[in-house]
Amino acid sequence: MSTRLKDTDVVIIGLGAAGGVAALPLAQAGLDIVGLEAGTWLTRRDFAPDELRNNYRGWPQGVQKANQEIPTSRATSSSPTGPRGTIHPMQNAVGGTTVHYWAQSWRLNPWDFKVVSETTRRYGASRVPKGSTVEDWPFGLDELEPYYDRVEYEIGVSGQAGNIGGRIDPRGNPFEGPRKRAYPMPPLRGTAFIDKMGGAARSLGWHPFPGPAAINSRSYQNRSACMYHGFCNRGGCHVDAKNSTAVTTIPRAQATGRLKVVTRAHVTTIEADGDGRVTGVNYMTDGVEYFQPAKVVLLASYTYENTRLLLLSKSKAFPKGLSNNHGQVGRHYFSHHTGAAVTALFPWDTGSWYGLPAQGVAVDDWADDNFDHGALDFIGGGNLWIYSDRRPIGAAGTSTFGGAPRWGSAWKAFIRENADRSNTAYIQKTTLPYEDNYLDLDPVVKDALGYAVCRITAEYKENERKIGAFTQDKMEQWYREAGAIAVQRGPVGGAMGVSTHAYGGTRMGDSRETNVVDRFGFSHEAPNLGVLGASVMGTSGAHNPTLTVQALAWRTAEHLVKNWNAVVDHRSAI
Ligand SMILES: Cc1cc2nc3c(=O)[nH]c(=O)nc-3n(C[C@H](O)[C@H](O)[C@H](O)COP(=O)(O)OP(=O)(O)OC[C@H]3O[C@@H](n4cnc5c(N)ncnc54)[C@H](O)[C@@H]3O)c2cc1C
Ligand code: SF4
Repeated sequence: MSTRLKDTDVVIIGLGAAGGVAALPLAQAGLDIVGLEAGTWLTRRDFAPDELRNNYRGWPQGVQKANQEIPTSRATSSSPTGPRGTIHPMQNAVGGTTVHYWAQSWRLNPWDFKVVSETTRRYGASRVPKGSTVEDWPFGLDELEPYYDRVEYEIGVSGQAGNIGGRIDPRGNPFEGPRKRAYPMPPLRGTAFIDKMGGAARSLGWHPFPGPAAINSRSYQNRSACMYHGFCNRGGCHVDAKNSTAVTTIPRAQATGRLKVVTRAHVTTIEADGDGRVTGVNYMTDGVEYFQPAKVVLLASYTYENTRLLLLSKSKAFPKGLSNNHGQVGRHYFSHHTGAAVTALFPWDTGSWYGLPAQGVAVDDWADDNFDHGALDFIGGGNLWIYSDRRPIGAAGTSTFGGAPRWGSAWKAFIRENADRSNTAYIQKTTLPYEDNYLDLDPVVKDALGYAVCRITAEYKENERKIGAFTQDKMEQWYREAGAIAVQRGPVGGAMGVSTHAYGGTRMGDSRETNVVDRFGFSHEAPNLGVLGASVMGTSGAHNPTLTVQALAWRTAEHLVKNWNAVVDHRSAI
Protein backbone atom coordinates (compact mmCIF):
# COMPACT_ATOMS: atom_id res chain seq x y z
CA MET A 1 0.00 0.00 0.00
CA SER A 2 1.54 3.27 -1.16
CA THR A 3 1.68 6.37 1.09
CA ARG A 4 0.44 9.54 -0.62
CA LEU A 5 2.71 12.45 0.29
CA LYS A 6 1.99 16.18 0.41
CA ASP A 7 1.57 17.83 -2.99
CA THR A 8 4.43 19.88 -4.42
CA ASP A 9 4.96 22.20 -7.39
CA VAL A 10 7.75 20.28 -9.11
CA VAL A 11 9.24 16.83 -8.68
CA ILE A 12 12.70 16.26 -10.15
CA ILE A 13 13.64 12.61 -10.69
CA GLY A 14 17.42 12.42 -10.21
CA LEU A 15 19.68 15.14 -8.82
CA GLY A 16 22.68 14.67 -11.10
CA ALA A 17 24.24 16.91 -13.73
CA ALA A 18 20.89 17.92 -15.23
CA GLY A 19 18.43 17.73 -12.33
CA GLY A 20 20.96 19.30 -9.97
CA VAL A 21 21.25 22.35 -12.24
CA ALA A 22 17.51 22.71 -12.99
CA ALA A 23 16.73 22.82 -9.26
CA LEU A 24 18.48 26.18 -8.82
CA PRO A 25 16.45 28.49 -11.13
CA LEU A 26 13.24 26.78 -9.99
CA ALA A 27 14.08 27.29 -6.32
CA GLN A 28 15.21 30.86 -6.89
CA ALA A 29 11.84 31.56 -8.54
CA GLY A 30 10.07 30.41 -5.36
CA LEU A 31 8.67 27.09 -6.58
CA ASP A 32 8.50 24.19 -4.13
CA ILE A 33 10.59 21.32 -5.40
CA VAL A 34 11.05 17.75 -4.24
CA GLY A 35 14.23 16.18 -5.59
CA LEU A 36 13.92 12.38 -5.56
CA GLU A 37 17.41 10.91 -5.70
CA ALA A 38 18.20 7.19 -5.72
CA GLY A 39 21.61 7.71 -4.12
CA THR A 40 22.77 9.45 -0.96
CA TRP A 41 24.93 12.43 -0.06
CA LEU A 42 28.62 11.64 -0.33
CA THR A 43 31.23 13.61 1.52
CA ARG A 44 34.91 14.41 1.07
CA ARG A 45 35.66 11.39 3.25
CA ASP A 46 34.14 9.16 0.53
CA PHE A 47 36.61 10.41 -2.05
CA ALA A 48 39.71 8.40 -1.31
CA PRO A 49 42.44 8.48 -3.99
CA ASP A 50 42.22 4.70 -4.43
CA GLU A 51 42.61 3.25 -7.91
CA LEU A 52 41.50 -0.23 -6.88
CA ARG A 53 38.29 1.02 -5.29
CA ASN A 54 37.45 3.72 -7.83
CA ASN A 55 38.45 2.11 -11.09
CA TYR A 56 38.17 -1.65 -10.57
CA ARG A 57 35.59 -2.21 -7.84
CA GLY A 58 33.01 0.28 -9.11
CA TRP A 59 32.93 2.55 -6.08
CA PRO A 60 30.62 3.22 -4.28
CA GLN A 61 28.86 -0.14 -4.15
CA GLY A 62 26.51 0.72 -1.28
CA VAL A 63 24.18 2.98 -3.25
CA GLN A 64 24.61 1.64 -6.77
CA LYS A 65 21.03 1.05 -7.87
CA ALA A 66 22.44 1.47 -11.38
CA ASN A 67 24.41 -1.79 -11.10
CA GLN A 68 21.16 -3.71 -10.80
CA GLU A 69 19.76 -2.30 -14.02
CA ILE A 70 22.72 -2.30 -16.43
CA PRO A 71 21.23 -2.23 -19.94
CA THR A 72 21.65 -5.25 -22.17
CA SER A 73 23.05 -4.59 -25.64
CA ARG A 74 23.19 -6.11 -29.09
CA ALA A 75 24.39 -4.74 -32.43
CA THR A 76 21.23 -5.32 -34.45
CA SER A 77 17.77 -6.76 -33.86
CA SER A 78 18.97 -10.10 -35.26
CA SER A 79 22.30 -10.27 -33.37
CA PRO A 80 22.80 -12.13 -30.11
CA THR A 81 22.85 -10.07 -26.90
CA GLY A 82 26.43 -9.23 -25.92
CA PRO A 83 27.99 -10.01 -22.55
CA ARG A 84 26.50 -7.77 -19.84
CA GLY A 85 28.86 -5.62 -17.77
CA THR A 86 29.02 -5.93 -14.00
CA ILE A 87 29.53 -2.23 -13.22
CA HIS A 88 27.29 0.57 -14.47
CA PRO A 89 29.51 3.57 -15.21
CA MET A 90 27.04 6.14 -13.87
CA GLN A 91 26.68 7.24 -10.26
CA ASN A 92 23.78 7.12 -7.79
CA ALA A 93 24.42 10.02 -5.42
CA VAL A 94 23.36 13.60 -4.87
CA GLY A 95 25.28 15.24 -7.73
CA GLY A 96 24.91 12.11 -9.87
CA THR A 97 27.78 11.32 -12.19
CA THR A 98 29.25 14.82 -11.80
CA VAL A 99 30.70 13.46 -8.54
CA HIS A 100 33.16 11.18 -10.34
CA TYR A 101 33.17 12.41 -13.95
CA TRP A 102 36.21 13.88 -15.68
CA ALA A 103 34.60 17.36 -15.75
CA GLN A 104 35.53 18.35 -19.30
CA SER A 105 32.99 21.10 -19.95
CA TRP A 106 32.55 21.68 -23.65
CA ARG A 107 30.11 23.72 -25.64
CA LEU A 108 28.89 22.24 -28.92
CA ASN A 109 30.15 23.64 -32.23
CA PRO A 110 27.65 25.77 -34.25
CA TRP A 111 27.56 23.03 -36.93
CA ASP A 112 26.23 20.46 -34.43
CA PHE A 113 22.89 22.29 -34.30
CA LYS A 114 22.53 22.38 -38.10
CA VAL A 115 23.99 19.11 -39.38
CA VAL A 116 21.32 18.52 -42.04
CA SER A 117 20.97 22.05 -43.42
CA GLU A 118 24.69 22.85 -43.30
CA THR A 119 25.70 19.54 -44.90
CA THR A 120 23.11 20.07 -47.61
CA ARG A 121 24.22 23.65 -48.20
CA ARG A 122 27.92 22.83 -48.37
CA TYR A 123 28.04 19.37 -49.96
CA GLY A 124 24.51 18.47 -51.13
CA ALA A 125 21.67 16.50 -49.50
CA SER A 126 23.09 13.15 -50.63
CA ARG A 127 25.94 13.55 -48.11
CA VAL A 128 23.63 13.02 -45.12
CA PRO A 129 24.28 9.31 -44.47
CA LYS A 130 21.60 6.93 -45.70
CA GLY A 131 19.40 5.58 -42.92
CA SER A 132 20.25 8.40 -40.53
CA THR A 133 17.33 10.05 -38.76
CA VAL A 134 19.36 13.16 -37.92
CA GLU A 135 17.43 16.47 -37.88
CA ASP A 136 18.56 20.05 -37.31
CA TRP A 137 18.00 21.18 -33.73
CA PRO A 138 14.97 23.45 -33.38
CA PHE A 139 17.37 26.32 -32.60
CA GLY A 140 21.01 27.27 -33.10
CA LEU A 141 23.98 27.86 -30.81
CA ASP A 142 23.00 31.53 -30.42
CA GLU A 143 19.85 30.45 -28.54
CA LEU A 144 21.83 28.26 -26.12
CA GLU A 145 24.80 30.63 -25.61
CA PRO A 146 23.29 32.61 -22.70
CA TYR A 147 22.59 29.34 -20.85
CA TYR A 148 26.09 27.99 -21.50
CA ASP A 149 27.40 31.26 -20.10
CA ARG A 150 25.13 31.12 -17.05
CA VAL A 151 26.08 27.55 -16.18
CA GLU A 152 29.81 28.16 -16.72
CA TYR A 153 29.65 30.89 -14.09
CA GLU A 154 27.22 29.11 -11.72
CA ILE A 155 29.19 25.86 -11.45
CA GLY A 156 32.60 27.32 -12.32
CA VAL A 157 34.49 26.38 -15.50
CA SER A 158 38.20 26.94 -16.19
CA GLY A 159 39.24 27.54 -19.77
CA GLN A 160 40.65 29.78 -22.46
CA ALA A 161 38.10 31.48 -24.71
CA GLY A 162 38.82 31.29 -28.45
CA ASN A 163 36.04 33.48 -29.79
CA ILE A 164 34.56 36.35 -27.79
CA GLY A 165 31.84 38.06 -29.81
CA GLY A 166 33.46 36.99 -33.09
CA ARG A 167 36.99 38.10 -32.12
CA ILE A 168 39.29 35.07 -32.43
CA ASP A 169 41.90 34.56 -29.71
CA PRO A 170 44.57 32.08 -30.93
CA ARG A 171 45.23 30.92 -27.35
CA GLY A 172 41.76 29.31 -27.32
CA ASN A 173 39.72 27.21 -29.74
CA PRO A 174 39.45 29.20 -32.97
CA PHE A 175 36.60 26.95 -34.13
CA GLU A 176 34.25 27.58 -31.21
CA GLY A 177 31.11 29.64 -31.79
CA PRO A 178 31.01 33.20 -30.48
CA ARG A 179 30.73 33.51 -26.70
CA LYS A 180 29.69 36.54 -24.68
CA ARG A 181 32.69 36.64 -22.37
CA ALA A 182 35.73 34.78 -21.09
CA TYR A 183 35.53 31.75 -18.79
CA PRO A 184 35.22 32.60 -15.10
CA MET A 185 38.62 31.02 -14.44
CA PRO A 186 41.82 30.64 -16.50
CA PRO A 187 42.55 27.14 -17.88
CA LEU A 188 44.12 24.37 -15.80
CA ARG A 189 47.89 24.49 -16.17
CA GLY A 190 49.83 22.36 -18.65
CA THR A 191 52.58 19.81 -18.01
CA ALA A 192 55.87 19.33 -19.84
CA PHE A 193 54.30 16.54 -21.91
CA ILE A 194 51.08 18.45 -22.65
CA ASP A 195 53.12 21.49 -23.68
CA LYS A 196 55.31 19.32 -25.92
CA MET A 197 52.23 17.88 -27.62
CA GLY A 198 50.89 21.42 -28.07
CA GLY A 199 54.16 22.44 -29.74
CA ALA A 200 54.02 19.40 -32.05
CA ALA A 201 50.45 20.32 -33.11
CA ARG A 202 51.55 23.86 -33.88
CA SER A 203 54.46 22.63 -35.99
CA LEU A 204 51.89 20.69 -38.06
CA GLY A 205 50.01 23.96 -38.60
CA TRP A 206 47.18 22.91 -36.26
CA HIS A 207 45.55 24.98 -33.48
CA PRO A 208 46.06 23.39 -30.03
CA PHE A 209 44.40 24.87 -26.95
CA PRO A 210 43.74 23.92 -23.30
CA GLY A 211 40.34 22.24 -22.85
CA PRO A 212 37.60 23.64 -20.61
CA ALA A 213 37.00 21.94 -17.24
CA ALA A 214 34.48 22.25 -14.41
CA ILE A 215 37.46 22.19 -12.06
CA ASN A 216 38.80 25.19 -10.22
CA SER A 217 42.11 26.46 -11.60
CA ARG A 218 42.04 28.94 -8.72
CA SER A 219 39.87 29.30 -5.66
CA TYR A 220 36.25 29.86 -6.78
CA GLN A 221 33.09 30.39 -4.74
CA ASN A 222 35.08 29.72 -1.57
CA ARG A 223 36.21 26.32 -2.74
CA SER A 224 39.80 25.23 -3.24
CA ALA A 225 41.82 25.26 -6.44
CA CYS A 226 42.84 21.90 -7.93
CA MET A 227 45.98 20.27 -6.45
CA TYR A 228 46.69 18.25 -9.65
CA HIS A 229 47.39 15.09 -7.70
CA GLY A 230 45.07 12.94 -9.84
CA PHE A 231 43.01 9.88 -8.89
CA CYS A 232 39.74 11.70 -9.61
CA ASN A 233 39.25 9.77 -12.86
CA ARG A 234 36.19 7.89 -11.55
CA GLY A 235 36.75 9.36 -8.08
CA GLY A 236 35.38 12.40 -6.29
CA CYS A 237 37.45 15.39 -5.19
CA HIS A 238 38.31 15.54 -1.48
CA VAL A 239 38.94 19.31 -1.60
CA ASP A 240 35.79 20.16 -3.62
CA ALA A 241 37.80 21.58 -6.52
CA LYS A 242 35.66 19.55 -8.95
CA ASN A 243 32.42 21.43 -9.53
CA SER A 244 29.87 18.68 -9.14
CA THR A 245 26.29 19.85 -8.68
CA ALA A 246 26.54 18.40 -5.13
CA VAL A 247 28.83 21.29 -4.15
CA THR A 248 27.46 24.03 -6.42
CA THR A 249 23.85 24.35 -7.60
CA ILE A 250 22.16 21.85 -5.26
CA PRO A 251 23.31 23.42 -1.96
CA ARG A 252 22.47 26.85 -3.37
CA ALA A 253 18.97 25.66 -4.26
CA GLN A 254 18.60 24.15 -0.77
CA ALA A 255 19.65 27.46 0.78
CA THR A 256 16.51 29.08 -0.68
CA GLY A 257 14.43 26.75 1.49
CA ARG A 258 12.50 25.61 -1.61
CA LEU A 259 14.32 22.37 -2.49
CA LYS A 260 13.68 19.25 -0.43
CA VAL A 261 16.21 16.53 -1.22
CA VAL A 262 14.91 13.00 -0.64
CA THR A 263 17.72 10.46 -0.85
CA ARG A 264 17.45 6.68 -1.34
CA ALA A 265 14.27 7.33 -3.32
CA HIS A 266 14.06 4.85 -6.19
CA VAL A 267 11.43 6.13 -8.65
CA THR A 268 9.67 3.25 -10.35
CA THR A 269 6.95 4.87 -12.48
CA ILE A 270 5.32 8.20 -13.36
CA GLU A 271 1.53 8.47 -13.11
CA ALA A 272 -0.71 10.13 -15.71
CA ASP A 273 -4.44 10.88 -15.61
CA GLY A 274 -6.99 10.09 -18.29
CA ASP A 275 -6.36 13.46 -19.95
CA GLY A 276 -2.70 12.68 -20.49
CA ARG A 277 -1.33 14.95 -17.79
CA VAL A 278 1.21 13.64 -15.29
CA THR A 279 0.07 13.69 -11.66
CA GLY A 280 3.17 12.56 -9.73
CA VAL A 281 5.60 9.72 -9.29
CA ASN A 282 5.84 6.44 -7.43
CA TYR A 283 9.01 5.62 -5.57
CA MET A 284 10.35 3.07 -3.11
CA THR A 285 12.67 3.47 -0.15
CA ASP A 286 13.78 0.30 1.66
CA GLY A 287 10.81 -1.63 0.30
CA VAL A 288 8.21 1.00 1.31
CA GLU A 289 6.15 2.59 -1.49
CA TYR A 290 5.31 6.29 -1.74
CA PHE A 291 3.37 8.44 -4.19
CA GLN A 292 4.67 12.01 -4.55
CA PRO A 293 2.01 14.17 -6.26
CA ALA A 294 3.27 17.17 -8.26
CA LYS A 295 2.00 19.77 -10.68
CA VAL A 296 5.05 19.25 -12.92
CA VAL A 297 7.46 16.32 -13.23
CA LEU A 298 11.00 16.78 -14.54
CA LEU A 299 12.67 13.50 -15.52
CA ALA A 300 16.46 13.71 -15.10
CA SER A 301 17.69 10.18 -14.46
CA TYR A 302 20.15 9.79 -17.42
CA THR A 303 19.39 8.55 -20.92
CA TYR A 304 18.79 4.85 -20.19
CA GLU A 305 16.66 5.42 -17.10
CA ASN A 306 14.76 8.35 -18.69
CA THR A 307 13.75 6.05 -21.52
CA ARG A 308 13.06 3.07 -19.26
CA LEU A 309 10.88 5.02 -16.83
CA LEU A 310 8.76 6.38 -19.70
CA LEU A 311 8.34 2.92 -21.25
CA LEU A 312 7.48 1.39 -17.85
CA SER A 313 4.87 4.10 -17.08
CA LYS A 314 1.88 2.74 -18.96
CA SER A 315 -1.61 4.14 -18.43
CA LYS A 316 -4.97 4.42 -20.19
CA ALA A 317 -3.82 7.62 -21.90
CA PHE A 318 -0.41 6.15 -22.75
CA PRO A 319 -0.77 2.39 -23.36
CA LYS A 320 2.69 2.10 -24.99
CA GLY A 321 4.45 4.07 -22.25
CA LEU A 322 4.32 7.69 -21.13
CA SER A 323 4.64 10.23 -23.96
CA ASN A 324 4.98 7.38 -26.45
CA ASN A 325 1.76 7.51 -28.44
CA HIS A 326 3.81 8.46 -31.51
CA GLY A 327 6.27 5.61 -30.88
CA GLN A 328 9.25 7.94 -30.45
CA VAL A 329 10.45 6.97 -26.96
CA GLY A 330 13.71 5.04 -27.38
CA ARG A 331 14.23 6.18 -30.99
CA HIS A 332 17.22 8.19 -32.36
CA TYR A 333 19.58 6.59 -29.83
CA PHE A 334 23.34 6.92 -30.26
CA SER A 335 26.48 7.13 -28.16
CA HIS A 336 29.82 8.79 -28.65
CA HIS A 337 32.27 6.57 -30.47
CA THR A 338 35.20 6.79 -28.05
CA GLY A 339 36.68 3.57 -29.45
CA ALA A 340 39.09 3.62 -32.43
CA ALA A 341 41.78 4.46 -29.87
CA VAL A 342 45.37 5.42 -30.65
CA THR A 343 48.24 4.69 -28.23
CA ALA A 344 51.83 5.86 -28.62
CA LEU A 345 55.17 4.92 -27.06
CA PHE A 346 57.79 7.60 -26.49
CA PRO A 347 61.50 7.15 -25.83
CA TRP A 348 61.30 9.35 -22.72
CA ASP A 349 59.13 9.61 -19.58
CA THR A 350 56.01 11.73 -20.01
CA GLY A 351 55.67 12.68 -16.32
CA SER A 352 51.99 11.70 -16.23
CA TRP A 353 51.91 10.26 -12.69
CA TYR A 354 50.20 13.42 -11.54
CA GLY A 355 47.42 15.42 -13.14
CA LEU A 356 43.84 14.67 -14.11
CA PRO A 357 41.98 13.79 -17.29
CA ALA A 358 40.48 17.27 -17.68
CA GLN A 359 44.00 18.76 -17.77
CA GLY A 360 45.21 18.56 -21.32
CA VAL A 361 45.56 19.90 -24.83
CA ALA A 362 42.91 19.68 -27.54
CA VAL A 363 42.91 19.94 -31.31
CA ASP A 364 39.63 20.73 -33.06
CA ASP A 365 41.00 21.13 -36.59
CA TRP A 366 39.47 17.70 -37.46
CA ALA A 367 36.20 18.02 -35.54
CA ASP A 368 32.66 18.70 -36.77
CA ASP A 369 32.77 20.59 -40.11
CA ASN A 370 35.91 22.57 -39.25
CA PHE A 371 37.64 21.17 -42.37
CA ASP A 372 36.55 20.67 -45.96
CA HIS A 373 34.79 17.34 -46.42
CA GLY A 374 34.34 17.93 -50.18
CA ALA A 375 36.76 15.18 -51.23
CA LEU A 376 35.90 12.89 -48.30
CA ASP A 377 33.13 10.32 -48.01
CA PHE A 378 31.85 11.08 -44.50
CA ILE A 379 30.55 14.03 -42.50
CA GLY A 380 31.60 15.09 -39.00
CA GLY A 381 34.92 14.46 -37.30
CA GLY A 382 36.67 14.19 -33.97
CA ASN A 383 38.16 16.18 -31.11
CA LEU A 384 41.72 14.98 -30.33
CA TRP A 385 42.46 15.18 -26.58
CA ILE A 386 45.78 14.51 -24.83
CA TYR A 387 45.66 14.56 -21.04
CA SER A 388 47.69 13.85 -17.93
CA ASP A 389 46.51 10.87 -15.88
CA ARG A 390 48.28 7.68 -14.87
CA ARG A 391 47.78 5.29 -11.99
CA PRO A 392 49.82 2.24 -10.98
CA ILE A 393 47.48 -0.64 -11.87
CA GLY A 394 46.58 0.92 -15.21
CA ALA A 395 50.25 1.57 -15.96
CA ALA A 396 51.06 -2.10 -15.41
CA GLY A 397 48.58 -2.88 -18.18
CA THR A 398 50.48 -0.72 -20.69
CA SER A 399 50.83 -2.29 -24.12
CA THR A 400 54.23 -3.78 -24.88
CA PHE A 401 53.82 -2.66 -28.50
CA GLY A 402 54.96 -6.09 -29.65
CA GLY A 403 58.39 -5.44 -28.08
CA ALA A 404 58.10 -7.87 -25.14
CA PRO A 405 55.94 -10.81 -24.00
CA ARG A 406 52.91 -10.09 -21.76
CA TRP A 407 54.33 -12.01 -18.77
CA GLY A 408 57.55 -12.99 -17.02
CA SER A 409 60.79 -11.12 -16.39
CA ALA A 410 61.03 -9.64 -19.91
CA TRP A 411 57.56 -8.10 -19.41
CA LYS A 412 58.52 -6.76 -15.98
CA ALA A 413 61.66 -5.18 -17.44
CA PHE A 414 59.61 -3.56 -20.22
CA ILE A 415 57.07 -2.13 -17.76
CA ARG A 416 59.82 -0.89 -15.42
CA GLU A 417 61.32 1.11 -18.27
CA ASN A 418 58.15 2.16 -20.09
CA ALA A 419 55.37 2.53 -17.51
CA ASP A 420 55.43 6.33 -17.93
CA ARG A 421 56.28 6.39 -21.63
CA SER A 422 52.99 5.56 -23.30
CA ASN A 423 49.99 7.77 -23.94
CA THR A 424 46.47 7.02 -25.18
CA ALA A 425 44.52 9.82 -26.80
CA TYR A 426 40.86 10.40 -26.04
CA ILE A 427 39.20 10.97 -29.40
CA GLN A 428 35.55 11.95 -29.39
CA LYS A 429 33.81 11.65 -32.69
CA THR A 430 30.52 12.63 -34.27
CA THR A 431 27.91 9.89 -34.04
CA LEU A 432 24.59 10.20 -35.85
CA PRO A 433 21.22 8.60 -35.03
CA TYR A 434 19.98 5.87 -37.39
CA GLU A 435 16.65 4.24 -38.15
CA ASP A 436 17.67 0.88 -36.67
CA ASN A 437 19.60 2.06 -33.59
CA TYR A 438 17.21 2.28 -30.64
CA LEU A 439 16.43 1.61 -26.96
CA ASP A 440 13.55 -0.49 -25.64
CA LEU A 441 12.75 -2.75 -22.68
CA ASP A 442 14.58 -6.06 -22.47
CA PRO A 443 12.01 -8.87 -22.79
CA VAL A 444 13.91 -11.14 -20.37
CA VAL A 445 16.30 -9.31 -18.01
CA LYS A 446 14.80 -7.56 -14.95
CA ASP A 447 16.18 -5.37 -12.18
CA ALA A 448 16.05 -6.20 -8.46
CA LEU A 449 12.45 -4.94 -8.20
CA GLY A 450 11.32 -7.03 -11.16
CA TYR A 451 11.15 -4.21 -13.74
CA ALA A 452 12.56 -4.82 -17.23
CA VAL A 453 15.98 -3.23 -17.82
CA CYS A 454 16.75 -1.07 -20.84
CA ARG A 455 17.95 -2.83 -24.01
CA ILE A 456 20.32 -1.18 -26.48
CA THR A 457 20.11 -2.23 -30.12
CA ALA A 458 22.76 -0.21 -31.91
CA GLU A 459 26.01 -0.29 -33.87
CA TYR A 460 28.38 2.27 -35.35
CA LYS A 461 27.65 2.68 -39.04
CA GLU A 462 29.87 3.41 -42.03
CA ASN A 463 30.03 7.17 -41.40
CA GLU A 464 31.24 6.62 -37.83
CA ARG A 465 33.77 3.97 -38.90
CA LYS A 466 35.20 6.33 -41.52
CA ILE A 467 35.52 9.12 -38.97
CA GLY A 468 37.27 6.62 -36.66
CA ALA A 469 39.89 5.70 -39.28
CA PHE A 470 40.37 9.34 -40.36
CA THR A 471 40.93 10.63 -36.82
CA GLN A 472 43.31 7.73 -36.09
CA ASP A 473 45.43 8.91 -39.05
CA LYS A 474 45.48 12.45 -37.68
CA MET A 475 46.32 11.29 -34.16
CA GLU A 476 49.17 9.11 -35.39
CA GLN A 477 50.54 12.08 -37.35
CA TRP A 478 50.41 14.20 -34.16
CA TYR A 479 52.13 11.56 -32.00
CA ARG A 480 54.87 10.98 -34.60
CA GLU A 481 55.49 14.73 -34.83
CA ALA A 482 56.01 14.75 -31.03
CA GLY A 483 58.59 11.95 -31.28
CA ALA A 484 56.60 8.70 -30.77
CA ILE A 485 58.61 5.60 -31.64
CA ALA A 486 55.60 3.25 -31.88
CA VAL A 487 51.87 3.79 -32.43
CA GLN A 488 49.05 1.30 -32.01
CA ARG A 489 45.42 1.58 -33.14
CA GLY A 490 42.30 0.05 -31.64
CA PRO A 491 39.41 -1.41 -33.66
CA VAL A 492 37.06 0.98 -35.47
CA GLY A 493 33.30 0.51 -35.03
CA GLY A 494 31.25 -2.37 -33.64
CA ALA A 495 28.24 -2.56 -31.35
CA MET A 496 27.33 0.36 -29.08
CA GLY A 497 27.57 -0.93 -25.52
CA VAL A 498 26.54 0.96 -22.38
CA SER A 499 27.97 4.46 -22.66
CA THR A 500 28.73 7.41 -20.41
CA HIS A 501 27.80 9.64 -23.36
CA ALA A 502 24.40 8.20 -24.34
CA TYR A 503 22.11 10.39 -26.43
CA GLY A 504 18.54 10.26 -27.73
CA GLY A 505 15.57 8.19 -26.69
CA THR A 506 13.51 11.30 -25.88
CA ARG A 507 14.69 13.61 -28.68
CA MET A 508 13.82 17.30 -28.76
CA GLY A 509 12.27 18.87 -31.85
CA ASP A 510 9.30 20.75 -33.21
CA SER A 511 7.59 17.75 -34.83
CA ARG A 512 5.77 15.36 -32.52
CA GLU A 513 5.92 12.78 -35.31
CA THR A 514 9.70 12.41 -34.84
CA ASN A 515 10.39 13.80 -31.36
CA VAL A 516 9.29 13.20 -27.77
CA VAL A 517 9.83 16.69 -26.36
CA ASP A 518 9.37 20.17 -27.77
CA ARG A 519 12.04 22.85 -28.17
CA PHE A 520 11.86 23.64 -24.44
CA GLY A 521 12.17 20.05 -23.27
CA PHE A 522 8.48 19.47 -22.47
CA SER A 523 6.62 16.43 -23.74
CA HIS A 524 4.58 16.89 -26.90
CA GLU A 525 1.98 14.54 -25.43
CA ALA A 526 2.03 15.11 -21.64
CA PRO A 527 2.49 18.89 -21.37
CA ASN A 528 3.47 19.05 -17.68
CA LEU A 529 6.26 16.49 -18.10
CA GLY A 530 9.74 17.83 -18.85
CA VAL A 531 12.79 15.74 -19.74
CA LEU A 532 16.36 16.75 -18.90
CA GLY A 533 19.61 15.17 -20.06
CA ALA A 534 21.37 14.10 -23.25
CA SER A 535 18.34 11.94 -24.04
CA VAL A 536 16.85 15.11 -25.60
CA MET A 537 19.90 15.80 -27.80
CA GLY A 538 19.65 14.95 -31.50
CA THR A 539 23.38 15.26 -32.30
CA SER A 540 26.51 14.56 -30.27
CA GLY A 541 29.10 16.74 -31.87
CA ALA A 542 32.68 15.79 -31.08
CA HIS A 543 32.69 16.94 -27.45
CA ASN A 544 31.48 15.64 -24.08
CA PRO A 545 27.79 16.33 -23.43
CA THR A 546 27.45 17.56 -19.85
CA LEU A 547 27.76 21.32 -20.21
CA THR A 548 25.19 21.20 -23.04
CA VAL A 549 22.94 19.01 -20.86
CA GLN A 550 23.23 21.57 -18.06
CA ALA A 551 22.61 24.57 -20.32
CA LEU A 552 19.50 22.84 -21.70
CA ALA A 553 18.36 21.98 -18.15
CA TRP A 554 18.65 25.61 -17.07
CA ARG A 555 16.73 26.68 -20.18
CA THR A 556 13.92 24.15 -19.54
CA ALA A 557 13.66 25.30 -15.91
CA GLU A 558 13.61 28.96 -16.92
CA HIS A 559 10.89 28.24 -19.48
CA LEU A 560 8.84 26.56 -16.78
CA VAL A 561 9.24 29.53 -14.42
CA LYS A 562 8.27 32.03 -17.12
CA ASN A 563 5.35 29.95 -18.38
CA TRP A 564 4.17 28.30 -15.17
CA ASN A 565 0.45 28.80 -15.71
CA ALA A 566 0.59 27.79 -19.34
CA VAL A 567 2.53 24.56 -18.56
CA VAL A 568 0.39 23.63 -15.56
CA ASP A 569 -2.94 24.42 -17.22
CA HIS A 570 -2.07 23.34 -20.75
CA ARG A 571 -4.45 20.68 -21.99
CA SER A 572 -2.90 17.53 -23.36
CA ALA A 573 -3.06 16.92 -27.10
CA ILE A 574 -2.60 13.15 -27.04
C1 LIG B 1 33.89 8.28 -15.55
C2 LIG B 1 33.06 9.30 -16.28
C3 LIG B 1 33.68 10.43 -16.81
C4 LIG B 1 32.91 11.39 -17.47
N1 LIG B 1 33.54 12.52 -17.91
C5 LIG B 1 32.83 13.49 -18.50
C6 LIG B 1 33.46 14.72 -18.88
O1 LIG B 1 34.66 14.93 -18.68
N2 LIG B 1 32.69 15.67 -19.47
C7 LIG B 1 31.38 15.47 -19.73
O2 LIG B 1 30.74 16.36 -20.30
N3 LIG B 1 30.76 14.33 -19.38
C8 LIG B 1 31.45 13.34 -18.76
N4 LIG B 1 30.82 12.18 -18.36
C9 LIG B 1 29.37 12.06 -18.66
C10 LIG B 1 28.57 12.79 -17.62
O3 LIG B 1 28.77 12.23 -16.37
C11 LIG B 1 27.10 12.76 -18.01
O4 LIG B 1 26.94 13.42 -19.26
C12 LIG B 1 26.20 13.46 -17.03
O5 LIG B 1 26.43 13.08 -15.71
C13 LIG B 1 24.74 13.14 -17.38
O6 LIG B 1 23.89 13.91 -16.58
P1 LIG B 1 22.49 13.33 -16.08
O7 LIG B 1 21.96 14.30 -15.12
O8 LIG B 1 21.69 12.95 -17.27
O9 LIG B 1 22.88 11.96 -15.36
P2 LIG B 1 23.58 11.79 -13.92
O10 LIG B 1 24.56 12.87 -13.67
O11 LIG B 1 24.09 10.39 -13.88
O12 LIG B 1 22.39 11.97 -12.88
C14 LIG B 1 21.28 11.11 -12.89
C15 LIG B 1 20.78 11.02 -11.46
O13 LIG B 1 19.53 10.35 -11.45
C16 LIG B 1 19.50 9.45 -10.36
N5 LIG B 1 18.54 8.39 -10.71
C17 LIG B 1 18.65 7.48 -11.70
N6 LIG B 1 17.56 6.70 -11.73
C18 LIG B 1 16.74 7.13 -10.74
C19 LIG B 1 15.47 6.71 -10.28
N7 LIG B 1 14.80 5.71 -10.87
N8 LIG B 1 14.95 7.33 -9.18
C20 LIG B 1 15.62 8.36 -8.58
N9 LIG B 1 16.81 8.80 -9.00
C21 LIG B 1 17.37 8.19 -10.07
C22 LIG B 1 20.92 8.96 -10.24
O14 LIG B 1 21.16 8.41 -8.97
C23 LIG B 1 21.70 10.22 -10.55
O15 LIG B 1 21.98 10.97 -9.38
C24 LIG B 1 31.53 11.20 -17.67
C25 LIG B 1 30.91 10.06 -17.16
C26 LIG B 1 31.67 9.11 -16.48
C27 LIG B 1 30.99 7.91 -15.91
S1 SF4 C 1 43.32 16.44 -9.14
FE1 SF4 C 1 42.22 18.32 -8.63
S2 SF4 C 1 40.03 17.86 -9.03
FE2 SF4 C 1 41.15 15.90 -8.95
S3 SF4 C 1 40.89 15.20 -6.79
FE3 SF4 C 1 42.87 16.33 -6.95
S4 SF4 C 1 42.34 18.45 -6.37
FE4 SF4 C 1 40.42 17.40 -6.86
